[in-house]
Amino acid sequence: MTKIIFVTGGVVSSLGKGLTSASIGMLLEARGLRVKMQKADPYINVDPGTMSPFQHGEVYVTDDGAETDLDIGHYERFTSGEITQESNFTTGRIYESVIAKERAGKYLGSTVQVIPHITDEIKNSIRALEGPDTDVIITEVGGTVGDIESLPFLEAIRQLRLECEPDQVLSIHLTLLPYIRASQELKTKPTQQSVGRLREIGIQPDILICRTEKPMTDEITDKISLFCNVRREAVIEEKDVDFSIYQVPFLLKDHGLDDLILERLGLEAPPGNLDRWAEMLDTLQAGGPKVEIAVVGKYVELHDAYKSIYESLTHASIANRASVSIRKIAAEDVARDGAEAHLSGVDGVLVPGGFGQRGTEGKIDAIRYARERSIPFFGICLGLQCAVIELARNVCGLEGANSSEFEENPKHPVISLLEEQREVVDKGGTMRLGAYPCRLVPGTIAHEAYGEEMIRERHRHRFEFNNAYRDQLAEHGVIASGVYPDKDLVEIIEYRDHPWFVAVQYHPEFKSKPIEPHPLFRGFVEAALVHSGASTQASSVSR
Ligand code: GLN
Repeated sequence: MTKIIFVTGGVVSSLGKGLTSASIGMLLEARGLRVKMQKADPYINVDPGTMSPFQHGEVYVTDDGAETDLDIGHYERFTSGEITQESNFTTGRIYESVIAKERAGKYLGSTVQVIPHITDEIKNSIRALEGPDTDVIITEVGGTVGDIESLPFLEAIRQLRLECEPDQVLSIHLTLLPYIRASQELKTKPTQQSVGRLREIGIQPDILICRTEKPMTDEITDKISLFCNVRREAVIEEKDVDFSIYQVPFLLKDHGLDDLILERLGLEAPPGNLDRWAEMLDTLQAGGPKVEIAVVGKYVELHDAYKSIYESLTHASIANRASVSIRKIAAEDVARDGAEAHLSGVDGVLVPGGFGQRGTEGKIDAIRYARERSIPFFGICLGLQCAVIELARNVCGLEGANSSEFEENPKHPVISLLEEQREVVDKGGTMRLGAYPCRLVPGTIAHEAYGEEMIRERHRHRFEFNNAYRDQLAEHGVIASGVYPDKDLVEIIEYRDHPWFVAVQYHPEFKSKPIEPHPLFRGFVEAALVHSGASTQASSVSR
């Protein structure tokens, strides 16, 4: 029997529900359980693919090509359970499928309603993860209890609790204890009210996890237990972490959360082993030689917009036993003030993915600066496209080289629409998405970093290196070091006359984990260390 854990949130959004869910998943996996993680998002978009990063942070892509919420990235970084199209669903997706069924005549004779049709569809989307190789499903419900949009999801949870065995479903509620500085007190009322809302719907949480900046006193715990009708030992403190989100599982374990969950679900499991994670955290905390990496992007004011990239740099920093600091630079500022004004002194330049023309000239200037000064450069997706434009214009002398995404008919369309995209009109879910194989050319930086010839990486784009310019660029030292064999698409470029100039059409940041850093991020930070003049001997330790 697959067990189901629901994680809901109350009081405010941005409580770190995704991280807490991922941490629970990681703790249960450490106990030998096979876990599948999932997020239910109450908004109406079918997926987050068409939303601006300002709305919802980065769009995270799975191997099978789902465009998902960034919390799915936390799940992948913390756990090893399979992440697929089914790992994230929204109200929009639920309605889309119910309406399609209605049109197909699947409900002939009935009035189609929120209860039971929508709630059944929600329950089916959760139970789709059940199976003989899954011990526990963890479903995080996006949004906050009390939102109108969340109601059908909570109703579906209530029904599932009713239908399942008493020890099959567990409801965990994450809440905030605000600290009032003037009276120096933690307040429990918002938590009481949020649990009250849940109980009105018919859900009695089994476990409360309380986000707090100050330690909880016994008195506070007693009060929450009494007013929220949750046993005292199931009121768990989650204090703010001091240096890394990767501390969260340890915090929760210290409060006995994994034992409690197992007991409530009637599961037995050997004690967990978190040694590798503990070691990783020690390395992270110890730090090392400093390197500064510039991330030149369009959404740098919003940390969530490049979440996986920042995480991957942290992983690479651990692997190299270095202290990476990030200088976030708005590409438009570079275009306005010149690269020197913003990039002087950095040890590496990273240009991430993006859409649209805004900021691209600044990215191109930043790449030129890195190339001319032999500063390690890493381009990702749009970052590769900007690098190709820069090399075409300034190394090959192709004046007017551009991407056909930024200009209607560029004189030299060195980046052009993918053949398969020519007929595509709809914007939602129609890019080249998900994992594709890529063959690496021996002797290149990419080949050396990966240590293998065939790799698989995740994509999300419509435009691509234009093969019509391949020979011309090659004559000027641009190496196509990775190619998608089926269609001969250039997926990685390197520049010969530079110590570390690598750009990729895919998104390596989606596959980096704290204890399995991505080889290109690791290589990039290693090159940045060399550039900074720091010793890199330590880096070989992690290889
Ligand atoms: N806008 C570019 C394209 O669609 C790059 C996409 C990206 O960076 N994810 O090809």
